[in-house]
Amino acid sequence: MPPKLLLATNNAKKLSEIQGILEERLGGDLTGQIVNAATFDLPEPVEDGATFEENALIKAQYYFDKTGIPALADDSGLIVDLLGNAPGVLSARWSGVHGDDLGNNRLLLRQLEDVPCRLRGAHFTTCCALVGLVRAQEHTTTFGEMRGRIIHEMRGENGFGYDSIFVPDAFEDTELEGKTTAEVTPEMKQKISHRSQAVSAMVKHLVELF
Ligand code: IMP
Repeated sequence: MPPKLLLATNNAKKLSEIQGILEERLGGDLTGQIVNAATFDLPEPVEDGATFEENALIKAQYYFDKTGIPALADDSGLIVDLLGNAPGVLSARWSGVHGDDLGNNRLLLRQLEDVPCRLRGAHFTTCCALVGLVRAQEHTTTFGEMRGRIIHEMRGENGFGYDSIFVPDAFEDTELEGKTTAEVTPEMKQKISHRSQAVSAMVKHLVELF
């Protein structure tokens, strides 16, 4: 049986987060029904959109056009209150090198060095785009957001990107208060994450596929 859905990302941690959410919401093991972008050995599309939504649509449209399989893409990033919309769509390459998580974290910590706790608010945001469903007009997009603050140092080994410097508000008043999203299990992060919210909102559109 051909795969029913292509996940348009090569980031292994994002893939397992998204597959985990879909399996929880749609029920059962979806291995074999879901493929990821790396399976096709295609060059990655250029993500030159000005917004998360534009970039998510570029990726989903590209993989659907190349493979004919309905494609789900996400584009995410961090927005720091004091920095306007930054790092925003530049989150993955904030320090100049795409995917240099350590460099990105160090630069952001330097930029916020003298900023007091109350002004260190930030949020992660995700846009999910789905292209290729028969009944969808053209495409569908959904969004998610996780608010919190940037701490003064890196803590934790889990997750990726800015997880080690981000403490979410949702952990307040629980035993996880003060922990970064890199200090908790992927399952705990998944309960509150921006990506989880955006993917969960997409589930009702995916039901017809599975
Ligand atoms: P992408 O374009 O969706 O892959 O995300 C761009 C960048 O945003 C990533 O390289 C990370 O630096 C950051 N980012 C997105 N989601 C997360 C997250 O859940 N935790 C930490 N960093 C994230």
